[in-house]
Amino acid sequence: MILVRMTLAIDGWFTIDDNGACLIGTRCAACGTVAFPPRHGFCPSPRCESESMAETRLSRRGRIWSYTNACYPPPAPFVAAEPYLPVTLAAVELAEEGIVVLGQVKDLTVDDLQVGMEVELTHGALADGPLVWMWGRVS
Ligand SMILES: [Zn+2]
Repeated sequence: MILVRMTLAIDGWFTIDDNGACLIGTRCAACGTVAFPPRHGFCPSPRCESESMAETRLSRRGRIWSYTNACYPPPAPFVAAEPYLPVTLAAVELAEEGIVVLGQVKDLTVDDLQVGMEVELTHGALADGPLVWMWGRVS
C-alpha cells in the first residue's frame, strides 16, 4: 500500500478516497435542505428555523447548468500557471441535492461541453500544487 500525502486546496469542502473525489456539504435534519460549501448553524432555507446542519457527502454526478472559460488569470491569491492556460469552469446541478456547484473542468474545453451534459466529480492540481475538485467526463 502506497500512502501519498495530499494537500487539499480547502480543508473540509471535499475529500479524496478510494472511490474518488467527493464534495462535503451539510444537510438540514429538519427539512433536508443541502448547503455547499458546508455550513453549520442556521438552515439556509427561509422557511425553516432549524439549527441542525449535519455533514453529508454530495452526489458525484450532475448535469452542466452553465459553463464558460477564463481566458485571463484570476487575481491573487489565485496562483496562475506560467504561461497561463485558459481554465474551463462549469456550474453543475446536483439533482438530488437541488443545488448548483461551480468547479474547474478537467481535460475538457468549452467546445466539448453542453448544457445538460452529465459530468462526474474528479480532482486535479492547481498551478501551485494543492488538489481541488474538478468536473470531468463520466467514467
Ligand atoms: Zn431546514
